Amino acid sequence: MTEAAKLTTGLRSDVCGALRPSDVGRRVRLAGWIHRRRDHGSLVFIDLRDRYGIVQVVVDAAVAPEAHAALTDARSEWVIAVEGTVAARRAGTENEKLATGGIEVAGEIVTVLSQAKTPPFYINDTDAPVDESLRLKYRYLDLRREPLRDRILLRSAMVQAIREVHHEHGFVEVETPILIKSTPEGARDFIVPSRLQQGSVYALPQSPQQMKQLLMVAGFDRYFQIARCFRDEDLRGDRQPEFTQLDIEMSFVDEASVRAYVEAMVIEVTKRIRPDRPIQQLPLPTFTYEEAMERYGSDKPDIRFAMELIDLGASLPESTGFKVFDETRASGGRIRAIRVAGRGGITRSDVDDLTERAKRYGANGLVWIALQPDGEVRSPIAKFLSPEATTALWSATGGKATHADGDLLLIVAGPKILSAEVLGRLRVEVALELGLADPDVLAFCWVHRFPMYQWEAESGRWDATHNPFSAPVPEHLNLLATTSGDLAKRSEGDPAAGALAQQYDIVLNGWELGGGSIRIHDRALLERSFALMGHSLEDARAKFGALLDAFEYGAPPHGGIAIGVERWAALLAGQINIREVMAFPKTQSGSDLMLEAPSEPDAKQWAELGLSVRPVKS
Ligand code: ASP
Repeated sequence: MTEAAKLTTGLRSDVCGALRPSDVGRRVRLAGWIHRRRDHGSLVFIDLRDRYGIVQVVVDAAVAPEAHAALTDARSEWVIAVEGTVAARRAGTENEKLATGGIEVAGEIVTVLSQAKTPPFYINDTDAPVDESLRLKYRYLDLRREPLRDRILLRSAMVQAIREVHHEHGFVEVETPILIKSTPEGARDFIVPSRLQQGSVYALPQSPQQMKQLLMVAGFDRYFQIARCFRDEDLRGDRQPEFTQLDIEMSFVDEASVRAYVEAMVIEVTKRIRPDRPIQQLPLPTFTYEEAMERYGSDKPDIRFAMELIDLGASLPESTGFKVFDETRASGGRIRAIRVAGRGGITRSDVDDLTERAKRYGANGLVWIALQPDGEVRSPIAKFLSPEATTALWSATGGKATHADGDLLLIVAGPKILSAEVLGRLRVEVALELGLADPDVLAFCWVHRFPMYQWEAESGRWDATHNPFSAPVPEHLNLLATTSGDLAKRSEGDPAAGALAQQYDIVLNGWELGGGSIRIHDRALLERSFALMGHSLEDARAKFGALLDAFEYGAPPHGGIAIGVERWAALLAGQINIREVMAFPKTQSGSDLMLEAPSEPDAKQWAELGLSVRPVKS
């Protein structure tokens, strides 16, 4: 008997999807939804569905007239119970597409448990496109359909595997509260007004960061949680206002030991869930942030394909003849290229489209050069380049085209980071369009040694690139120590600006799967770091007082990571949108179309909270 078949309750002896030829002759009680009904006069065929699968039920009026009559009006999605006997299907009528296709159930007693209206979309035809808002409004019906059902089952199996692996390694699962005080991760807080303490609010956690660090001070040394996090930000394809993180923290560790555990765990869980999908490289390749930006133009590189960025700066002669190149270098900028093999025949309109995208991503323009194997060159700038510059360009980018269709060079000139990021995005888009990324392959990698701080020009202050609790790499500790800590003296040139953090991201197929760091566990150093980020001492104590105080009672060195459960599940399920692995996601505007949330509280709720809404004056 399969595991599924054991999961039976009063109304059923078996589940639909688990019956096999070895069950022939057994009398069974089944219950489920009518997937399809075919009426052949005295014979009615029902495909009966539950979450385990589909089984064919045949009811013969001559044998079971009452059961036959009960099905006269039955329609798709009615819920029925059937009692009958498992029979082998007649030779030639087996259905290889169904796991139960070798048998059918001769129905003798049929009970209608619940009738159903015609659903707003077909449950049994998963190829027909359905508008997503309809899928969200009737999510319980969408969840009945095989693709979403299977993804929710995959996610459940993944979470189970995560728990198993952590327990196998001595981790303690702790639930941290949802009603807390602000824990910043760079987004806005959702806040919940307090009724008992009117005028005060709780913040929903952007992550359990402070609590997991406090658990380390408490001595739990290996913590994990499947943690719900809330971030009030503008939603994009891979964002939701509430989402789930696999949150981990460990004591007495350094970066190498945290990453070693996380890597082993991620690979183990991935292999348990998708043994069929190849993992590109083990152990996982590690890039510094600097290297990832230089080679891939991204801090989350998709390494399923090469097409790395080439820096032309050093190879080109001082004067190339092309003003944009010469001026970029004179102003300290960079000239970078990618080489797209086989695209030497690119059309004018495709080039215009690429240029449009480069501009949208912030570049002033895009230079292109199409090369043919016979040496023919097409490019709007070919006539400007000096012969030396042309020669240098070829040798820097790999010589003349060898691909029969010629090659295409895409070149962006501009500031260091911008030129890398623009080409980094084009690199991924072009590779995906050309089918260079194998959709089956799982290419994980690490990116680490991020800058500690990034300069926020608007507010004139430094902010943490990750979260404010990350520690600098040991050799940069002195940079923090020499910073003035004086708010008035903060500037873009502050010595701490160059500090790198012991911070690491795990990346999968070009998505940031998770990120973490080794933390500062010294009160004075953390206060100094907060000061650098523009917090006055009072402010830092008001916001993070518990953590600062805790560090005075014996804090172990510690570090951790948080991994996006939906991103991981989506990638393992071959999806690009995390909504596809969430049972009840929200829309881009943060609405739950099914429950119609958010909604207005009633007057009594406002009164209890001591709040009222004042229309905003325009
Ligand atoms: N709390 C961090 C985040 O949510 C992860 C970590 O540093 O552990 O991104």
